[in-house]
Amino acid sequence: MQQYCQASCRTYRNPNRHRWFGTDGTQVNKLSKYFTLEELTVSQYATRKGISNIPTGQEMLNLVATAAKMDEVRKLLGKPIYVSSGFRNPAVNLAVGGSATSSHTSGLAVDFVCPEYGSVKEVFDAIRKSSLRYDQVINEGDDWVHLGFGRQQRLQQLKATFSKGRATYEVVK
Ligand SMILES: [Zn+2]
Repeated sequence: MQQYCQASCRTYRNPNRHRWFGTDGTQVNKLSKYFTLEELTVSQYATRKGISNIPTGQEMLNLVATAAKMDEVRKLLGKPIYVSSGFRNPAVNLAVGGSATSSHTSGLAVDFVCPEYGSVKEVFDAIRKSSLRYDQVINEGDDWVHLGFGRQQRLQQLKATFSKGRATYEVVK
């Protein structure tokens, strides 16, 4: 869907004030067919602490690309996807214990579950057996799936195990 901001902002510095419209003139606030800006910038931590989690120009463009890739995941699974974390600015990322090099900080990763499709492992397996192009897919302790995109497409498949607050990653074959 073609979208434009009524305010014609170029920097996307304050997307909360943006009004995204589809070509039919209705407000959509959608980044892609299935995903909205809110879904991909939600952070319970940021909301609770009153920290803003607003993407700037390049991050916003990355989010649009990420949303398009997530549409492919949505089509692959055929069921609704529940995003727990998409974009995290450095302050939010640090606060939630994310890695400093996390692709979440550039809007190129999404954490999600899809319970109507199956367990985290089943979703993880569906993605790694698909023809989807991605950088990293991680089964995060059977709690959620992390899917990272980006310039690299390493197709890395990892399983994270958490112990005493630390994550250990092993390659899944
Ligand atoms: Zn993640």
